[in-house]
Amino acid sequence: MAENRSTVLVVGLGRFGTALALELESLGHEVLAMDARESVVQQWASRITHAVQGDSTDHDTLISLGVKDLAHAVVAIGEDVEASILTTSALSELGVTDVWAKATSAAHARILGLVGATHVVYPEQDSGRRLAHLVTGRVADYMEIDDDFVLIETGVPSNVHNQTLADAQLRAAYGVTVVSVKPPGGRYTYATPSTVLDGLLLVAGTKADVARFAAAAPDLG
Ligand code: ATP
Repeated sequence: MAENRSTVLVVGLGRFGTALALELESLGHEVLAMDARESVVQQWASRITHAVQGDSTDHDTLISLGVKDLAHAVVAIGEDVEASILTTSALSELGVTDVWAKATSAAHARILGLVGATHVVYPEQDSGRRLAHLVTGRVADYMEIDDDFVLIETGVPSNVHNQTLADAQLRAAYGVTVVSVKPPGGRYTYATPSTVLDGLLLVAGTKADVARFAAAAPDLG
């Protein structure tokens, strides 16, 4: 069934796995989705390229689905930690190059790495941390690019409102880089020294520098 390496295997059609599978489909990828529950397989069968019922901890089942020819797989099982670990280990053992796995705790994440997950995601922790930046009302969007490098969408601090980027000296004052500016009613454009600071900004920098900048930004509420 899994005839080419662009097919992505998604194991577990809970909320996370289903959202992932449908988004991959909308991006034009072929998805091979697998879940132990026949009812969820039936529910999504019409919207996913291949949806099959089966136990992903069973090597023979995985082999019969041709998973060893796949480059990408996501183990989207959270609650059943044992099934998550056994599935990740089986996919790694069968030669899937890129095995992403969803963790529900730090210990779970560590074990997934030990049994062959090439990437471990922690969606609940990530979205909780992200939300902490948004609830203050000064940050419209927050993206962690690296351990200590983030990109935020925020407003213009009142002391530099309507100044050009060159005059505002934000890098000297905060250590941040304004990447792009969206004027009121306009669209995002790349920031240049002559760009006027009005509307929304995409600001990049270390967590501490960006947090200092966001604290000076207006409440967007
Ligand atoms: P959600 O994404 O909804 O938060 P969750 O993190 O609670 O889900 P689970 O409900 O544990 O994750 O698992 C997601 C799906 O994985 C379920 O639909 C479940 O049937 C499926 N699943 C669990 N174990 C296996 C298994 N061994 N083989 C195949 N599918 C499995």
